[in-house]
Amino acid sequence: MSPGVADELSGVPPLDGALLTSPEALAAAADDFGHTVHRPPAAVLRPGSSDDVAAIVRYAGKRDMPVACRGCGHATDGQAQAPGGIVVESGGLSAIHEIGPAGAVVDAGVTWRALIEAALAGGRTPPVVTDYLDLSVGGTLSAGGIGGASPRFGAQVDNVLELDVVTGDGVRRTCAADRDGELFLAVLGGLGQFAIILRARLRLVPARPVARVYDLSYPSLEAFTADAAVLALDGRFDHVQGQADPGPQGGWTWHLAAASYHTPPETPDDDVLLTGLHDTRAAARVEDVPYAAFLARLDPIVEFQVRAGVWGFPHPWFDLFVPAAAIDAYAGPIMDRLTVSDTGGGPVLLFPLRRDRLRRPFLRVPDGEVCFLFDILRTAPPDPARVQADLAANRSLFETARDAGGLRYCIGSVSFTPEDWRRHFGPHWPAFERAKRTYDPGNVLAPGQGIFPR
Ligand SMILES: Cc1cc2nc3c(=O)[nH]c(=O)nc-3n(C[C@H](O)[C@H](O)[C@H](O)COP(=O)(O)OP(=O)(O)OC[C@H]3O[C@@H](n4cnc5c(N)ncnc54)[C@H](O)[C@@H]3O)c2cc1C
Repeated sequence: MSPGVADELSGVPPLDGALLTSPEALAAAADDFGHTVHRPPAAVLRPGSSDDVAAIVRYAGKRDMPVACRGCGHATDGQAQAPGGIVVESGGLSAIHEIGPAGAVVDAGVTWRALIEAALAGGRTPPVVTDYLDLSVGGTLSAGGIGGASPRFGAQVDNVLELDVVTGDGVRRTCAADRDGELFLAVLGGLGQFAIILRARLRLVPARPVARVYDLSYPSLEAFTADAAVLALDGRFDHVQGQADPGPQGGWTWHLAAASYHTPPETPDDDVLLTGLHDTRAAARVEDVPYAAFLARLDPIVEFQVRAGVWGFPHPWFDLFVPAAAIDAYAGPIMDRLTVSDTGGGPVLLFPLRRDRLRRPFLRVPDGEVCFLFDILRTAPPDPARVQADLAANRSLFETARDAGGLRYCIGSVSFTPEDWRRHFGPHWPAFERAKRTYDPGNVLAPGQGIFPR
């Protein structure tokens, strides 16, 4: 064992990596992108092998200590924390094992950025890429993983072929749709409740080198959502996402970013792509961008925020799925009241999604052909009163959405009781609870989600 191993943790099994108890390691594991929840573990495992993960889950289980895997720590509400237990940093498992016709085989700690770089070298790409690339494969597969290609390909969890995991009882298993299918379905979008993902085989598709990007602006939310729903359903673009930007006279203007991928000299037909949309033909801004640069389009914004010091501010994010039938009545009044100062300059996102492409039962999305992912990506000043006010606002916005058929996307900060969780999973709750009893009978995994109180 390496220096820094917890003195108070007796009987730790031999490890290839290190079990850390330094104040710095514990403090880092008690923080995340939200910076609003801080629950230190007793130790942090920096695994040197997947055997380490299995060994530490067994060790913790015998002592009734919670265990949470932490990818890049970009959830915002303590989801990857394990109070008094062990946080497993998946960053120690970051090998890309294979990129080929049968997909990519990667460790759970690999970031989407690293995977994309390796896949593009072979002319391939994951079908769905999140906006921000420095998220771990294991972290987004636990949550869902939504991107601009989701109207066509579903979420990242819909594009997984096989998983190697350690379940909460410390057993290593390989699962796929046709092999231990119940576990496979449970883990994808399962919020870390049933297993720690060690390795995933992911679908890849051919990459086309250029993205033609259309920026379509809208005078009203209603015009925007109408076009967004059309585009989600007819699939004419490879990528569709929406966002509200502060308007010149106050209020908000709505934009759709749509992209068509192509291989020159072939080019997309602008007229065909823009046919039938609301009054935007003249206003559309069109630009050709290398595909890799398009995927990394958030980098300059993140770099700016890091330089400005606000990247480390609290982020009490609000994220949920709203049925298309309810989106105007729900988001309209919210946006009428919302100011740039309420979001701290953070964006408001509105992504259209096709329900039939989102097939994993535990990634809960509303019924209906189309739904919208609605995010208020708040940046709050480091002022506890302001953070509390934002969290209270999130809860209230959630309750209104829930009553209109909305469901939380569980990456952000909305306080949830066990009853809220039962309601969230609705008809899938019995299967969720059964999977917990089967795969994590000691209830050790991912307590930070607050689904199964310890
Ligand atoms: C700047 C930013 C941009 C984002 N953009 C998008 C986006 O475009 N689309 C989108 O869908 N989401 C987006 N997200 C949300 C993000 O996908 C989720 O928060 C995701 O869970 C974070 O991944 P992570 O590696 O940081 O996970 P962590 O925050 O470390 O963990 C999140 C949860 O997953 C569990 N977990 C992590 N790794 C594993 C594993 N190997 N096995 C089992 N459980 C595990 C943790 O225990 C925890 O419960 C964004 C977040 C940020 C901060």
